[in-house]
Amino acid sequence: MILKNKNEIECRVCNSRNMFKFLSLGPTPLANKFIKKEHLNEEEIYYPLDAYFCEECFFVQIGYVVNPKVLFENYIYVSSTSETLKKQFKEFADDLKSRIKKNSFIVEIASNDGTLLKNFYSYKILGIEPASNIAKIAIAGGIPTLNRFFNIETAKDIVKKYGKADAIIGTNIFAHISNLNEFIEAVKILLDKDGFAVFESPYLADLMEKMEFDTIYHEHIYYLAIKPLISLFKKHSMELFDVKRTKMHGGSIRFYVTKGKFKKEKRVSDLVSLEEKLELGKRKAYEDFSSKALKLKVKLNDLLGKLKMSGKTIAGYGAPAKGNTLLNYTGVGNEILDYIVDKSPLKQGLYTPGKRIPIFSPDAILKKRPDYILILAWNFADEIMRQERAYKEKGGRFIIPIPEPKII
Ligand SMILES: [Zn+2]
Repeated sequence: MILKNKNEIECRVCNSRNMFKFLSLGPTPLANKFIKKEHLNEEEIYYPLDAYFCEECFFVQIGYVVNPKVLFENYIYVSSTSETLKKQFKEFADDLKSRIKKNSFIVEIASNDGTLLKNFYSYKILGIEPASNIAKIAIAGGIPTLNRFFNIETAKDIVKKYGKADAIIGTNIFAHISNLNEFIEAVKILLDKDGFAVFESPYLADLMEKMEFDTIYHEHIYYLAIKPLISLFKKHSMELFDVKRTKMHGGSIRFYVTKGKFKKEKRVSDLVSLEEKLELGKRKAYEDFSSKALKLKVKLNDLLGKLKMSGKTIAGYGAPAKGNTLLNYTGVGNEILDYIVDKSPLKQGLYTPGKRIPIFSPDAILKKRPDYILILAWNFADEIMRQERAYKEKGGRFIIPIPEPKII
């Protein structure tokens, strides 16, 4: 079943209809809706996946927003499967610890399996996780976790039961919130006047510069830049006072906001200048991006098609959500990739949404010895290539698809 866009798209941040559509990734199933073998004969739902740029408030966003209950229930992504991510979380935790007092109350929104909060055992902590299966994993691991969505009601309930938070954390969540205005109001309710909230989310400048078009999928409603964020928080009487670029998810920004008083760091204006230099407030940057995405699609098909025609075998490495955007947009399917391997036991044995490529454990690489491996989880490429050294030593080759397809 293919769903259609509404006739007119409105900006979800400022309600403007002055929306410039710059990239259409085609009807796409939900990127984390992996399929069980027994459901392979059932039809999937395809949603429009188009990226827009609001010419009023400059927020980049997708036009069709899927009900979060459909998106996040029984969500399959569990953060602790990756070494790189654990390391990045540890760095985040150290940064945060340098900014808070010993007895602080820390609340993490969308705390997943508790990987980040595990770094704060000696503090007062609370996780909020809407996916019931993942909240259970966190609780079993000793992390106090509320299994619900974060909104104004949840914020009020937490204040009543536990008091106001000294620090609110949200990693890879800010871009997922369909109503940012309401979300910020909820954060304000929960946050102590001397506290701060910190969010880490993929950065639009990285997406644009490194051609990370595959990070566009239905869970990511917004593609964030600092300049429009400053204005949004200002509208809610909050100030974005510090920001740091990190390597998370192909390049992210970690931004700090408060309703109290904190010293405004120069790093904030530095990034605003960078965004002006990249012309992120103008149509042209997005038009260029879109034509580069098309070129990448052609080039990847050309490269993989030629290898396949010459009798080579190709497997995929990693079944991240973005891999499914890449496969569905470029049209690379099971006729090219024989299978995909992924370290998460939750994904092994399933099939990718849309292209329906089977997912195995990474053991399959040494057993089946494909000639080429297409790294779909390119943000973990270094880790993957390190772990699969034996494969490379026996003549195997890796292909990294972005910023443009290359064989390593
Ligand atoms: Zn807008």
